Parts: sequence; structure tokens; C-alpha cells
Amino acid sequence: MADFILPARRTDDIKYAVRDIVVVAEKAARAGREMLYLNIGDPNVFDFRTPPHIVEAVHQAMQANRNGYSPSSGIRPALDAIEREAERKGLRNIRDLFITTGVSEAIDLCLTALANDGDDVLTPRPGYPLYSAILSKLHVVENPYDLDEQHGWQPDPDEIAARITPRTRAIVLINPNNPTGSVCSRDVLQQILDLSVRHNLLVLADEIYDKLVLDGIGHTSIAALNPDASVITFNGLSKSYLVPGFRIGWGVVTGREQALRQYVEAVNRLLRARLCASHPMQYAIQPSLEGEQAHLPDVLKRLTRRRDITVQMLNSTPQVSCTAPRGAFYAFPSLHIDGSDDEFVRRLIEQTGVVVVPGSGFGQVAGTKHFRAVFLPDEASLTRAFQRIIDFAAVYKP
Ligand code: PLP
Repeated sequence: MADFILPARRTDDIKYAVRDIVVVAEKAARAGREMLYLNIGDPNVFDFRTPPHIVEAVHQAMQANRNGYSPSSGIRPALDAIEREAERKGLRNIRDLFITTGVSEAIDLCLTALANDGDDVLTPRPGYPLYSAILSKLHVVENPYDLDEQHGWQPDPDEIAARITPRTRAIVLINPNNPTGSVCSRDVLQQILDLSVRHNLLVLADEIYDKLVLDGIGHTSIAALNPDASVITFNGLSKSYLVPGFRIGWGVVTGREQALRQYVEAVNRLLRARLCASHPMQYAIQPSLEGEQAHLPDVLKRLTRRRDITVQMLNSTPQVSCTAPRGAFYAFPSLHIDGSDDEFVRRLIEQTGVVVVPGSGFGQVAGTKHFRAVFLPDEASLTRAFQRIIDFAAVYKP
């Protein structure tokens, strides 16, 4: 008999490159390197602070002993605020709303309630690695569709259509996208939604960065384009309200009642089984969505300047080229080097202390090489980090 505890095989393929790379960074830090972290999308690590009225709302809830469990779908004032917010974004035929431990838990619950072993789910490539991890855990096949770097990382509806199989159950759309910072055009959204209706697929619309759209181009929620399509729109407080540690997200289900009834009941069975999201933190939702929004213009101003520095510097050397992000706080520049991006990033961290995440961690077209850089750091730190990347790339030999 073995004298060790074996992990389940379902964990074998679970990776999360954003944090996995930290192991390499820790080693470089121990060796005495001055580190510059461009790997984690957490604004509070940098010069972004939670608006005080949001902290105060949670503080008051805790003082008032709102520290027990909440209803499984969440507290009424927060659900009402989420519903009004969804209506402001043009969502109609709202069939259900639920509050979760970050968008992360909503993704897990909604995929768990949907797909059986061997079904497949269309996901953007590159895309957010949590989707791959959860699908892998569920033994659901990830069916990636490519975003087109030559066209501002837009999805190609024809390619999505060609990839649909008899076992396809859903289309994941991340808009604005992580890791590319791209924002989907209305026309592409409409075509994807039409496809979902034609093939009876659920759309999982991850819009966690919808308030962090740059250049005044605005954001369209895909669900708003057809109230009869089956869509779950994910959003949360982490990014737009600068509280990723609160772990508050939600899902809004829209579409035809009859089409969604059984599925919504399955999601609710899972919601009940895990009791509830953090109760006191839910008191941050209504004041976030409907209170003072003064931090947002300031955040957008800083992100715009930092995005501009990113694009300008990462296009100043032949070894790197960067499509301008229009939202979120990520850039996904292309590397024109020999060897793999994994190797490039590992040696970059070891030799310069600059921490980015290799493109392989997000999925990319075979043969292409990228890295993801977070442009949340202040301008001086960003400039220093990108200068080190440029200098390193210029002399890089695998
Ligand atoms: N979805 C996307 C596209 C993300 O980039 C992230 C976090 O980086 C999440 C979901 C997870 O968000 P949350 O903090 O709400 O769990």
C-alpha cells in the first residue's frame, strides 16, 4: 500500500499561470533582485484605493451584526441594485439574479450546472485561465475560438460557427477581454448572439471590466442585443470598485422563461448547497453601484496614461509589438523572438526582476508568442519595467 495521499486525476491539468509564475519570481526575489510586478490584476497592490463610502457600508453592516448567513442568492437590497444596474445596461427578461464569491464562483457554478462529461464549451483564445481550469475539473472539453490580433483581437463569428459541434453547450465571451484588453464591436456581439440563438447555446458573458473601458468607446452588454437569447451576464465589484479582496460577484440570467427554467433551478440547487457569499460584504453592492462614482473618471485617466506608455514603449523595439488595449488593464504584446515565451519570461524574471505572465498561460495561436503585462503600476515603475523588458528582448537568445 502506498504511504502517501494521492490527489485526484481531475487536478492534473489545472494551471493558473498568473500565480504559477510567482514561484519563479520568489526565487529571483530571494536572490536579491529588485522586483517589478506586472503579473497580477489587483489594483489595490498599486496606487488605487477603495472609495471610502464602500468600506464604510461594510463596516456598518458588521457593526450591526449582519455577520450570519444570508439567503443563498444574496440580500434583497443588493439584488435590487444589481437588477437596476442590469436594466440601465439594457438587459430585459431578467429571469434570475444571484450573488457569488466573486465572478470566479459564478463561473464555476454556472458551468457545473450546465455541462456533462464530454460536452464542449467555446472559450476565447487567448482568454482568462479560470475557464480552462474549471472545464478541466468538470471533464468538459474546452473548445477554443481564436481572437484575431490583426483585427484588434476581435472574435471571428465565422470561426465560432465552424467550431460548434453536436456537444457544444455554451459560448464564453470575455468583454473587455483579459488578457488582451480588447473590447468587442457591437456588430461582432450581435453575430455571436445570433449564432447562440440558432444553435440553442447559453452565452456566458463575463463583463467584469465593463466600467474600465478607455477612449470613450463605451460598452455594450451582449444580453441587451436580444432579450430572448439565453445569456448569463457576470459582473462584480473586484475591478471597477477596487475591492478584489471582498470577493463579491454576481450573475444575471436573461432570456425566455421556458428555455431557462430547468437550468436556473439547477444553478439554484448549487447556490443553496454552498449556503451564501460573504454576508457583510454584500452591503457594499448597493452603495457601489448607486453611490458616488467619483473614483471612476480618475481611475480611467490614470489607466489611459499608463496604457499609452505601455503601447508606446512596447512598440519601440523590433522584438516586441503591442496592439493597443481599449479596456481593462492588460496588454498582450507579441514577441518576435526565437524560442518559447515561457523560456523568455522565466529568464526575464531571473535576470531583470520584471514579472509578467507568458502567453502560453492564456492560450494563443500555435507558433505565436506573447506575454501579458498589467499596466496598473505608476508611470515611473511602468517605464522602468518596460525599459528592462526592451533591453532584455534586444539581446535575448534562447
Ligand atoms: N473574469 C475575468 C475576465 C477576470 O479577469 C477575473 C479576475 O481577474 C475574474 C473573472 C475573477 O473575478 P472575481 O474577483 O470577481 O472572482
